Amino acid sequence: MPSAYVQFEEKYCTGCTKCVRACPTKSIRIRNQRAVLLEHLCIGCGECIRVCPEGAISPVMSRRGLEKTDKITVAIVSPILYAQFPGVMPCDVLMSLNHMGFDHAIDLSYYLEMYQYAVERFIEQNRERKETPWPLISPICPVVKRLIALKHPGLLDHILPLKRPVALVESGIRREISEQYAVSEDDVLLYHLTPCPSKVTYGDTDDPEDRSGLNPAIGVNDIFPRLLEEVEATREMDLNLYPYRHLSFIPNARGPLWAMSGGEIAGMNIDRALAVSGLQEVKKYIEKIEMGLFQDTEYIEFRACPEGCIGGPLTAVDKYLARSTVQKLIKMFGLGRRIQPRKLRRLYDRGWFFSQTKPSDYREEIEDKSRSLTIEDMRRIEYILSQTPGHDCAACGAPDCRTFAEDVVRGYARLTDCYKFALDQCRDSNKFSDKTSE
Ligand code: SF4
Ligand code: SF4
Repeated sequence: MPSAYVQFEEKYCTGCTKCVRACPTKSIRIRNQRAVLLEHLCIGCGECIRVCPEGAISPVMSRRGLEKTDKITVAIVSPILYAQFPGVMPCDVLMSLNHMGFDHAIDLSYYLEMYQYAVERFIEQNRERKETPWPLISPICPVVKRLIALKHPGLLDHILPLKRPVALVESGIRREISEQYAVSEDDVLLYHLTPCPSKVTYGDTDDPEDRSGLNPAIGVNDIFPRLLEEVEATREMDLNLYPYRHLSFIPNARGPLWAMSGGEIAGMNIDRALAVSGLQEVKKYIEKIEMGLFQDTEYIEFRACPEGCIGGPLTAVDKYLARSTVQKLIKMFGLGRRIQPRKLRRLYDRGWFFSQTKPSDYREEIEDKSRSLTIEDMRRIEYILSQTPGHDCAACGAPDCRTFAEDVVRGYARLTDCYKFALDQCRDSNKFSDKTSE
C-alpha cells in the first residue's frame, strides 16, 4: 500500500471541510481543526486538491522535478502535455524536454495505438464467449481501477486484462536505451510526465501491475513553467542548426486525442463502446453495471477526471482550452494508423500485451482494510445515527452522520465530536451540578 497519494500542509489548512465533503471514498476527517487522511481509503483521485481553497493539499512527490543524476534520464510523455501548449507542435515540446535536461523524450502515442489494436483483438476473440464479463472496462484510468477494487470488488473481473500503455513502454524502452548506451537497465531512469496525482507515487503504488513501473513521476503542472520557457526558446531557434526538429516525431493526432474523454474508443473498431468521464458520473455508471445493466456494451472507457485527462488536477491550462488545442492537432495531422497490424498480431499472440496481474491480486492489495463490522456494530451504528441531528453538516469532522456513527464504532471518533451529543453531555452535567448545588 502506498504511504499516501496526497499530503496535507497543516499550517495552511483552516479546517473548512470542503475536502471532507468532496472525497468520493470518505477518506478525510477534521481533527483539531485540521484535515487528516485515512490513507487506506484514498484512491488518489485528486478531488480534494481541486476543492481546497487554501492550496493545503498536494500530490505526494510531484514537486520533486528532474533530479541531478548520473543515470540516463528518459521522459515518458503523456500526450496530454501537448494539449497544454496551444499553437506549439508536439515535436517542439519533445525537443524542449531535451533542452531541459532529459536525455530522451519518448512520445506515448505510439504505445497508445498498440494498446488500441490489442483491445480490438481481445474483443474480437472473446465476442462469442458467454463467460466474458460484459461490459469490459478500460484499465487505463488507475483511479477507476482503485475505486472498483475498493468499493465494487465484484466488478474487478470486468477490467480488461491488458497492460496499460505506460507498462508497455516500460517493457521495451528501458532495455532498448540500456543497450544503446551499454549500461545496465538500472542506470536508465524513466520519468512519467502526468496530469494524474494517482501516478505521482509510481514505484510505491498499490497496483501490482505498476510495481516495476516508472519511477519517479512528475506532475504536468510542476514541469510546465520551466518547459514553457524552453518551448519559447526552441521556437526562436535556427531550424538549420536543428534539422532533427522535423524528423524526430511522426505527427499524428491519435495520441493527443486520448487526452479527451472518448479519445480512447474513438480510434477503435468497436461498435458498442461508451465513454464516461467525471467521478460522479463514473460512480453512477459503475453502480449501473453492478445492477446488471450495459451487458450488451462491449467496452466502457471510464475517466475519473471531467472531460478526460485534460481535466486532471495536475494540468496547467484550462480543460476547454486544452480541448481546442487537441481539436486543432486533429485537423492538422489526422487520425491515420502508423503501426503494421501484422507486427502487432505477433506480439499479441506471444502474450506481450497481457497483464501479469490477476483481479484477485488486485483485490487483495486494495480491498478496504478496515476491520469488518459485526451485526452488533451495525446495530450500534444505526442507533447512534438515529440520535444524530441527521443534517450531514460535517461539523464533527466526518462527511456525513452515517460515516460519523461508523467512525465512533470503529474507534476513529468520540460521540462528543458531534455537537448534539456534546450539548446533551453538557446539559446532563449541568443538571448534575444543579442537583449537587441544591
Ligand atoms: S479543503 Fe480541506 S485541507 Fe483545504 S483548508 Fe479546507 S479542510 Fe483544510
Ligand atoms: S485524493 Fe481523492 S480519495 Fe484521496 S483523499 Fe483526496 S479526494 Fe479522497
